[in-house]
Amino acid sequence: MIDIHCHILPGIDDGAKTMEDSVEMAKAALNEGIHTIIATPHHKNGKFNNVKSDILLLVNRVNTRLKEEGVDVTILPGQEVRIFGEVVEDYKKGEILPLTDDSQYVFIEFPSNHVPRYTERLLYDIQLEGLTPIIVHPERNSELIERPEKLYELVKNGACTQVTASSLTGYFGKKIQKFSQQIIEANLTHFIASDAHNTHNRNFKMNEAMDFIEKQYGMDQLYFFTENAELLIDNQNIYREIPEPIKKKKFLGLF
Ligand code: FE
Repeated sequence: MIDIHCHILPGIDDGAKTMEDSVEMAKAALNEGIHTIIATPHHKNGKFNNVKSDILLLVNRVNTRLKEEGVDVTILPGQEVRIFGEVVEDYKKGEILPLTDDSQYVFIEFPSNHVPRYTERLLYDIQLEGLTPIIVHPERNSELIERPEKLYELVKNGACTQVTASSLTGYFGKKIQKFSQQIIEANLTHFIASDAHNTHNRNFKMNEAMDFIEKQYGMDQLYFFTENAELLIDNQNIYREIPEPIKKKKFLGLF
């Protein structure tokens, strides 16, 4: 299995603190059958800035260490970019790092409580550069929970999304779990990833999520997600189903 969202690089954000933590996380991943991880440290989130060149160096160091330790996991470079007005300019400056370094896919994170007004325009501009934005964990954004039609519009206009494994299995509460399921059912997401930060309270939980998907939606849906992760690291076009709006009435009726 491939995990496309993980804070495994040591000492540069709120994920692994030390190289030892990184090794522990890689071992935990391996226990879940994960052999490839895209390291996606925070960038421009108000606390952490991690530009492309720094990430590439650190990925090499972690891979070397994992080899020395005999841990058979490969780390690929990536970045979790908090949305800001100059994403395209900074991409041209070489500070923004697409997933795996040479794919067309770039992670975009929204603030947790709203979707900035310029989002639609910016995601359009990103696509004009030949990149495909992947909105990370839309299920944890309070504005999208209130106004799911916004997510529908963004996906309809070409954005992909990634739901977090532990959201789907209820670790972030019932409301987020329910919204995660509605996002899947409305064809509004394309990837499931761990967003793991450590091996205690923010662990991988990928197996649990994949079991849940298989039980709830069947093997086809499970393959859709696992194959999309493979297509992404090969920089191929991923599978997309036709997005549907989430009906708000039904959504509110559930609570
Ligand atoms: Fe993250």
